[in-house]
Amino acid sequence: MSFYSWHKPAFDELVRRADRLPHALLIRGASGIGKRAFATALARGLLCEKPLSTLVACGHCVACHWFDEGSHPDFRLLQPEADQEVGEEESSETDKKKKKDISVAQIRQLPHFINISSHRSGPKIIIIQPAEAMNVNAANALLKNLEEPPENTFFLLVTHRPQMLAATIRSRCQQIPLPMPTKEESLSWLEGVGVKNVAVALAQAGGAPLLAQEMDNEAHWALRAQFLQALSASPFDPLGLAEKMANESIAQLVGWLQRWTYDVSQVCFSIEPRYNPDFKEILNKLSTSVRGLEMLRFHRELVRFQRVINHPLNPRLLLESFFLRYAQLVRKKN
Ligand SMILES: [Zn+2]
Repeated sequence: MSFYSWHKPAFDELVRRADRLPHALLIRGASGIGKRAFATALARGLLCEKPLSTLVACGHCVACHWFDEGSHPDFRLLQPEADQEVGEEESSETDKKKKKDISVAQIRQLPHFINISSHRSGPKIIIIQPAEAMNVNAANALLKNLEEPPENTFFLLVTHRPQMLAATIRSRCQQIPLPMPTKEESLSWLEGVGVKNVAVALAQAGGAPLLAQEMDNEAHWALRAQFLQALSASPFDPLGLAEKMANESIAQLVGWLQRWTYDVSQVCFSIEPRYNPDFKEILNKLSTSVRGLEMLRFHRELVRFQRVINHPLNPRLLLESFFLRYAQLVRKKN
């Protein structure tokens, strides 16, 4: 329950000014680099009653014990309901969408929490993650709390999309930008936690080590290989692939297609593939029959689409249309 080693300088900076921490921090940085761990370590350090040093929790006191059990009375974690109920399946599509939000009802419980006196006469901490999951009403309700900051209360907002937060919220928080680890730091950490395909996993994750770790399972790699091989088959069969992949996660498939089209376009320009280094030879071969610029344009469309992808009405139809577009592009020069 600590922050990751690559975030030590950022944590040390907070330690240096621990006696004048602002009441609202916006912890931001790329997805999958350990922002939540950082916020959690900070909350734990603030609540610990026998810290080893400033903001460094002991792990043994009553407060640490409660915190680790998820039951510290002066701590609140606000996150979308969907993140709390992993494994619950019986909900409609609308429910699922709703549950991806942090609701106004969740924020409205805060004043009660904030206004009763602290159970342990220490600070009160609220983590909101991901902060961009607050809908407009929730954000407005939070704003009231941020405008009249209660004594000894800290709001830790965690986000990888700060631009999606209302400017009024951003301006009331002090921003704590967390850096990506270097490639070397990530590779050595991934090896340490026993990830097998470290280089490919990290490339696929765009350099984010925690995302790379999530990918490390046989089923994931097998499906990806099957998908990429189908994309590089000649002739490419768009409808056949859409049928084969009909039950897979569309976000995952579009993510793969998005990275693949990026690599194809880069290889067309004689640049090394960024995401799929293990398919370098196949990409090289494919690039001889493709126009790089057109592929790059398609890639950008997929990126734009990915930002809004949630639960499309007809995923199968959408996949088919993407694959048909791709088929046109790879047939271009033939
Ligand atoms: Zn402690």
